[in-house]
Amino acid sequence: MSTAVRKCPICKRPAEAALAPFCSQRCADADLRQWLTGGYAIPARADDDESDDDLPPAPRDSED
Ligand SMILES: [Zn+2]
Repeated sequence: MSTAVRKCPICKRPAEAALAPFCSQRCADADLRQWLTGGYAIPARADDDESDDDLPPAPRDSED
């Protein structure tokens, strides 16, 4: 039987058994973050389309 050493998907180093398939907690965190940001597509250009030019009309105190 050959020992199949998994490689860390982040840095390609041999994975740590306790942290498989990652080599370190750091890489596990990095992958998780990557997965989260990729999965929950964050609207990157939210304030790109909507301009704040639409100011509410100033209350007019017309005295006529
Ligand atoms: Zn790694």
